[in-house]
Amino acid sequence: MWITLVVFVMVLVTNITVSELEQQALRQGYDQFLRDSLEEVNVAVAKFEPGKEQLEKALLEKVKDNEYRTWFLQLYDEKKDLYWSSGNAPKLEPPTFVGEINGPYDEKKHRVYEKKLRKASGENYYIRCGFLHVALQDDINQLNRNILLASISIMLAAPLGGYVIALRATRPISQIIATTAHLQPSNLKERLPIRGTGDEIDQLSQTINGMLDRLASYLNQNRDFVANAAHELRSPLAAIRTSVEVGLNRSRTPEEYAVILSDVMEEIGRLAGLVNRLLILAEGDAGSVAGKDQFTRLDKIVRESADMFDAVAELNGVRLTLGELASAIVPGDETYLRQVVRNLIDNAIKYNRNPGDVVVHLRVDSARKQALLIVSDSGIGIDEEVLPRIFERFYRADKARTREKERAGYGLGLSICQTVIQALHGEIAVESDAGRGSTFTVRLPLIEDSTPLAHSGDKHIPLPLGS
Ligand code: ADP
Repeated sequence: MWITLVVFVMVLVTNITVSELEQQALRQGYDQFLRDSLEEVNVAVAKFEPGKEQLEKALLEKVKDNEYRTWFLQLYDEKKDLYWSSGNAPKLEPPTFVGEINGPYDEKKHRVYEKKLRKASGENYYIRCGFLHVALQDDINQLNRNILLASISIMLAAPLGGYVIALRATRPISQIIATTAHLQPSNLKERLPIRGTGDEIDQLSQTINGMLDRLASYLNQNRDFVANAAHELRSPLAAIRTSVEVGLNRSRTPEEYAVILSDVMEEIGRLAGLVNRLLILAEGDAGSVAGKDQFTRLDKIVRESADMFDAVAELNGVRLTLGELASAIVPGDETYLRQVVRNLIDNAIKYNRNPGDVVVHLRVDSARKQALLIVSDSGIGIDEEVLPRIFERFYRADKARTREKERAGYGLGLSICQTVIQALHGEIAVESDAGRGSTFTVRLPLIEDSTPLAHSGDKHIPLPLGS
């Protein structure tokens, strides 16, 4: 419709312009014809003088030749008396012979050109040639009819052409709509075709394809996450069920019940730990983890955690040393940050040897205004090829080994660390030498003004040991 409207306006403007210009050209052509005719008549008069008959014949021929132009001719003698006139000449006043083409077109019924000339004999004579306006008007009307015909054809063709062009332009969009309309979260394999034109539609298809890639990968991760979570929840539940069944199958002594119940409690503790971790990750996905508006004394948490793990380390033959401990206030909820520090120290002890070493440092990088938590161990290290995967949810580099251990993890500790640290605009990195040990480095933005130390709240999520 827009194309039709634009074409309509363009045709209108063009028609008016063309019609005006053509009318002008026609008028000029007619005037030129009058001037030329007058010259020809002059020559004829000179040639046939004094043979009036021959002259009349020649002039009549010319009049006849230009009948369609309603061309007429009059000759006047010295005294301005009509000497000869073509039959089609209108009744006219005696000539003034000013030599001009006179009269505006639209007001006069005819247009004439008059000229005073001198014969070879020395006598003056006058020529007047002209045409009736009607002839010019006929030409103009014909011209306008042609223009109108062309305009009507264009205006009929415009909506059709517009429709075809619009259809061509929107066909790829229809394809995009059709493809995206039947995409389902369960099947995100289909991608939009890229035509290689590099135009906006191609760019749109590329953008949508990129978004579909990201969505599909996110959904796959999520699916794996749910499957893994269900799998991990099943083992403690099965253990609880077995214990309860053992307790129910016959009556037992209070001591036996106490053992069964303490087994059940242990599994419930494991379940609670897993559910808490899943909650933190879910909060991380929802973007609500870590308490960006709160401030926490990181040095306090590091000291507390180191103290807490002292006994565990000793039990595992690991020497846990607290190295540098700069005072550092960082953004974030104390509970989540404590979880990060505990996970790292716990891993450093867990994946260590007997005897082994764990060193924890808290430094301040004033140049980058960051707090640096470094946890290094002299443990088993991580193979280079699995290093990029250790932050994935439920990923365990050495399943056999960790499974057997009492404090076997779920493979969620490091992904929780990453979720929390990234939510606080920090970074977590690892360097590892397989067989010789690993170093985890956490960087967090440093809060310089340490005075408004807001209380991080009582929102404690109870987490049993073992990540
Ligand atoms: P888990 O609960 O299994 O400890 P994490 O997410 O904390 O899960 O760690 C993922 C994996 O990364 C672990 O299974 C382990 O193989 C490896 N890993 C983590 N920390 C260390 C470390 N300090 N030394 C060696 N391997 C580590």
